[in-house]
Amino acid sequence: MLPFLFSINLNFVMVKNCFQTIPNMYEHFFQCPYCWEEISMLLDPSVVRQIYVEDCEVCCNPIQITPEFQENELIAFDASDIEQ
Ligand SMILES: [Zn+2]
Repeated sequence: MLPFLFSINLNFVMVKNCFQTIPNMYEHFFQCPYCWEEISMLLDPSVVRQIYVEDCEVCCNPIQITPEFQENELIAFDASDIEQ
């Protein structure tokens, strides 16, 4: 399943599954809203506000990720399930 792109405004970006090639990524650990396993995702601290969808690496369900950064610090993070 491809990550779904929300093109609501220009600050919103899609992050692809090629994190290992991107420098200065921020690794964040959280619980999957479906299976409650602790998983990690790499976030881009250079984008203040972003929203995108990643599949859980454990149960493969789509999770909507909404991280918010301020001066390269993660100040808000939400991971929610998506009703399909
Ligand atoms: Zn899961």
